[in-house]
Amino acid sequence: MRIIRTIAEVRDAVRAARDTGASVGLVPTMGAFHEGHLSLIRRARAASDLVVVSLFVNPTQFGANEDLGAYPRDEAGDAALAEAEGADILFAPAVEEIYPDGFATTIHVAGLTEVLDGASRGTHHFDGVATVVTKLFGIVRPDVAYFGQKDAQQVLVVRRVVRDLDLDVRIEACPIVREADGLAMSSRNVYLDPAARQQAAALNRALDAASALHQHGERQSEPILDAVRRVLAEAGIAPEYIELRDADDLHEITRVENDALLAVAARVGAARLIDNHILRGDA
Ligand code: AMP
Repeated sequence: MRIIRTIAEVRDAVRAARDTGASVGLVPTMGAFHEGHLSLIRRARAASDLVVVSLFVNPTQFGANEDLGAYPRDEAGDAALAEAEGADILFAPAVEEIYPDGFATTIHVAGLTEVLDGASRGTHHFDGVATVVTKLFGIVRPDVAYFGQKDAQQVLVVRRVVRDLDLDVRIEACPIVREADGLAMSSRNVYLDPAARQQAAALNRALDAASALHQHGERQSEPILDAVRRVLAEAGIAPEYIELRDADDLHEITRVENDALLAVAARVGAARLIDNHILRGDA
């Protein structure tokens, strides 16, 4: 596996592979790898000839009061894990390589970015995501790019950018990888002390309770949302949001008819955590 830091070199490496007919898979990440990241790399490895993993803690998607400075970083550990999964290139650029002096362009997706995490964190968050992902697509020009369903809204935003800007890349969303007690894996879980770590498992327990209600035939939003609220309250967690929205366009719904995204965000101990389940529609 090569570790590459410049756009010019990664372009050369991808071009050389493409000239031999290779297909290219891209896994964009911010590092501090866990099984969630590795599941994406595995999917890419199984489907593509050339697997590029990007590692870039993207400053523009963090708010002024967020954890950019504290975000866990372990490039050497990540490189070893990516190599063990068969990645061909780890693209780990410096901030100035991605955002040189004079950088002035922002990709903004209207609508989708204004709810859920966009409302909680501010629309700058998804502007930062959309801009850096568009740049990564321009640099690597992958056939397929892999994203985790853990960040469900991010997947929708990226899909919209691809559709609206006619980018020639297929987006594959991969299932959420969880710890044994159901906690969705996240680089931010390292912020949890033992008590908070135990408390954090209530997020998925709450979503499970709601999914069970839905499976037993409940279609109204309020009882489903109430199930989530109840379990979080029992665990002493005050949510930032608990919402049920259409899984494709994120409009708020009062009944589950088509696929619905049940999404939750909460601060648990020192970490801000998000999680979600898809409730399948009858349509
Ligand atoms: P991050 O490094 O947190 O930006 O995540 C990089 C990619 O891994 C994103 O597409 C995430 O959605 C995905 N990812 C993060 N956590 C998980 C998880 N627990 N299961 C599946 N994918 C994940």
